[in-house]
Amino acid sequence: MKPLLHAELINSPFEDPALFVEILWEHRALLFDIGEIGSFRPAKLLKISHAFVSHTHIDHFVGFDTLVRLMLNREKALKVFGPPGFLANVQGKLAGYTWNLTEGYPFSVVAAEVHPDRIISETFRSQHRFLPEEKREDSFTGILEEDSQLKISAAHLDHFIPSLAFALAERFHINVHKERLSERGLSIGPWLKEMKDALWRGDSGNLCLKVPLEGGGGMEEKEFSLDDLEETVTLTPGQKIAYVADCRFTEENSRRIIRLAEGADLFFCEAGFLDRDRDRAEERGHLTARQAGELARQAKVKKLQIFHFSPKYEKEAEGMFQEAEKAFRR
Ligand SMILES: [Zn+2]
Ligand SMILES: [Zn+2]
Repeated sequence: MKPLLHAELINSPFEDPALFVEILWEHRALLFDIGEIGSFRPAKLLKISHAFVSHTHIDHFVGFDTLVRLMLNREKALKVFGPPGFLANVQGKLAGYTWNLTEGYPFSVVAAEVHPDRIISETFRSQHRFLPEEKREDSFTGILEEDSQLKISAAHLDHFIPSLAFALAERFHINVHKERLSERGLSIGPWLKEMKDALWRGDSGNLCLKVPLEGGGGMEEKEFSLDDLEETVTLTPGQKIAYVADCRFTEENSRRIIRLAEGADLFFCEAGFLDRDRDRAEERGHLTARQAGELARQAKVKKLQIFHFSPKYEKEAEGMFQEAEKAFRR
């Protein structure tokens, strides 16, 4: 079984946070936090359709300029989400440059500011010198984006300022049985993506698909209904990835994190400090490695990956991982 979502932290755990999640077969990717990302392959960054920013401390947002710089010539808009105050941050960043020769570029940024009960969004177009327009307001009930395939939710955490945590869930996973296709003499090809899209949309079984036959050199095709092809696939529960950046270890934060990350296959959680320095962690509004492990255990996630270590542990990275893992597996 090939997973749909491939997640990787762009930097080492001592560097800026930025989690890149590629969606296989879609030529599309999502980014969680936009720290320094200049070392990452531009071709990969160009796939990003949505970026989710936990909060706008500089280590989580400094890479926004890199994205805009790369995408100026891109037709597809970049959608960015952030906490209360985010629209002013985005506008301020874009106002930091002179845009007199970019009217011809098709690029735009759609920014959305996520409040506990509503989302306020604005569009910034290169054609209009990135001035804010089309302000709109929608209600917010926990879900930021939802399509036939994926659902992205958010929760507000306390980091002395609001900090957003995110969960990305694949609604269900479609496994194609290549050997069953082969037994029936069917070739693989773009029709598989059509079939998957139809399944994700929940189309009726009567829908017809043209399937190339094996050995026909791609010339011979036969029509099948979705029902006819049913036995060539099985549906299994989809992947879930949770992302928690800077936040305090409070009861309310813990409750929200556990609910958001519950049962995740992969849980990315910040861990700024070792537990021996937990007073310092609280002063700075961060979690310790032990606290991250504790949250992972309570949320019953399958795998924990901690990041965002304070530079003072440069020689103790292994100790950070061990402390988190010990609390997680307890
Ligand atoms: Zn940070
Ligand atoms: Zn922070």
